[in-house]
Amino acid sequence: MSRDRYCSGAAAYTCEAELTAARRENISQNGAHPMLPTPSTPVHHEVRRAMVLGQSVQGRPIRAFEVGDPASPRKVLVVGCIHGNEPAGIAIADALALGRSPRGTDLWIVPDLNPDGVAAQTRQNADRVDLNRNFPWQWRPLGSPGNTFYSGRRPLSEPESRIAQRLVLRVRPQVSIWFHQQLDLVDESGGDVSVERRFASLVGLPLRRLTRYPGSATGWENHSLAGTTSFVVELPAGPVPPARVGVFTRAIRSLAASR
Ligand SMILES: [Zn+2]
Repeated sequence: MSRDRYCSGAAAYTCEAELTAARRENISQNGAHPMLPTPSTPVHHEVRRAMVLGQSVQGRPIRAFEVGDPASPRKVLVVGCIHGNEPAGIAIADALALGRSPRGTDLWIVPDLNPDGVAAQTRQNADRVDLNRNFPWQWRPLGSPGNTFYSGRRPLSEPESRIAQRLVLRVRPQVSIWFHQQLDLVDESGGDVSVERRFASLVGLPLRRLTRYPGSATGWENHSLAGTTSFVVELPAGPVPPARVGVFTRAIRSLAASR
């Protein structure tokens, strides 16, 4: 399907209506990821689809959206929220899911990996685990339940982190962006610093190197998928103004198109 025929005119209305409907409904209750393509399924057209990857500790659906060409190697993953009290990136992820992807790219979007934390306005999930200390790379015991950086009983002890791991290993994104708050910077997270620098420039934020914590999602991705880049973007406190949402979505699309 050509770019022009994809989601233009009336078709765009249908796509958006389907997407909106999909987001209102719980598409799958069984916790599986029924709509993910298998590697043996050749797909050569652009898609816009919503799916439920699985469920949180308290049973809330964790949704993903794919916008673009599933056959494209230019895959970019955006996770809007992993710490429940840092939800500003969800607005950026939502806008990205409703927009277009650049020709020949494949955008994967998880607006909210920690819906229980968002509902409770806590950093951690409902097991009181800091999901960004629960990934396998350099995981180690940290704290106890409820501590700020409690890393869980073992690596990937939490359904939310397992869902993210499964998605990453299946999609194998060239670039992954994980939104946090509230330091207002782009973090040198251990991948290709030129990618991080370009993104920082596109969104007008400083590039800094924060502490690289054990068990983080970006650390695990950068270690597990050689040659890819996963990095943290720290938004400022509070919601992202609409104009800034547009800046971020354009920057993500630009980065995807240049990979
Ligand atoms: Zn955070």
